[in-house]
Amino acid sequence: AKNAGGNRFVFYTRDMTDRAEARLRLESGLREAVAARSFELVYQPKVEASGGRLTGFEALIRWRHEGVPISPGDFIPVAEDTGLIIEIGRWVLEEACRTATRWALDHGPVPVAVNVSARQLADPGFARQVEQVLQRHGTPPDLLELEITETVIMKDVRHHLPTLNRLRALGVRIAIDDFGTGYSSLAYLRQLPVDVLKIDRSFVNDLPHAPDIASTVIALAQRLLLSTVAEGVETAEQRHWLAEAGCDCLQGYLISRPLSADAAEAMIMTAFAC
Ligand code: C2E
Ligand code: CA
Ligand code: CA
Ligand code: CA
Repeated sequence: AKNAGGNRFVFYTRDMTDRAEARLRLESGLREAVAARSFELVYQPKVEASGGRLTGFEALIRWRHEGVPISPGDFIPVAEDTGLIIEIGRWVLEEACRTATRWALDHGPVPVAVNVSARQLADPGFARQVEQVLQRHGTPPDLLELEITETVIMKDVRHHLPTLNRLRALGVRIAIDDFGTGYSSLAYLRQLPVDVLKIDRSFVNDLPHAPDIASTVIALAQRLLLSTVAEGVETAEQRHWLAEAGCDCLQGYLISRPLSADAAEAMIMTAFAC
């Protein structure tokens, strides 16, 4: 037993060293990627729940490290820890605005949503940065939507409120992402300058069998005159339930996986052709 314990110990430390090394490799890979701007954006469509009309896209970052695609769920937290998220976030914003402007000129207005991390929102220069990017690309502000997770906003509402107000004053729309997973005080929600609630995938996943949270979020949004987007819609039953319940927009693999900019543009051309 002693021996086995010893082996486990050796194995454990080796594992820790491997993990530390992997993390360091990821970090230096990220630094290089930031310097070389070697990220990509993919675009996942959102459609009206009733009728299916295209209403916009969410931009999602993609990164290949040493040829291997790394999930943003794995590298965004590292980017947050190291502060690299500030530069990555700026790149995402620039790229999304550049694309939205080009699409608007070539085809017609299609809003693009960008995910904003905790560090970005806490950056006192963030609202000014957004304003400058919009100006630089000649982007109509209503083509940009910012998705901020509920936990990030609610962790420090007082601190974030001035930034949110400044962003809203620019004319960009603000969505609360992953809504329902955190704790939102109703009183705060009423004061917040937000336009959209995105129902978290975990609650959409429960449909149609356990609809309580989804129903509550939709009712709340209607009460506060906010629009709703259901994320992670994967089945026709979910789509049907959401349309019946009065959810405004749908997003998920049932409608489309995230698309390359070219494939997204092809979808826009079809949408504007009719
Ligand atoms: P999120 O903002 O909640 O984005 C939705 C995630 O769900 C995306 O994963 C999307 O590809 C995935 N998804 C969409 N439809 C379905 C579906 O029907 N079923 C399932 N199972 N999944 C679906 P992705 O692209 O891997 O992004 C994961 C998270 O990483 C995002 O969650 C967001 O928090 C973060 N992220 C992605 N891009 C960016 C970015 O540019 N900046 C920042 N700060 N975060 C980002
Ligand atoms: Ca999002
Ligand atoms: Ca989400
Ligand atoms: Ca989510």
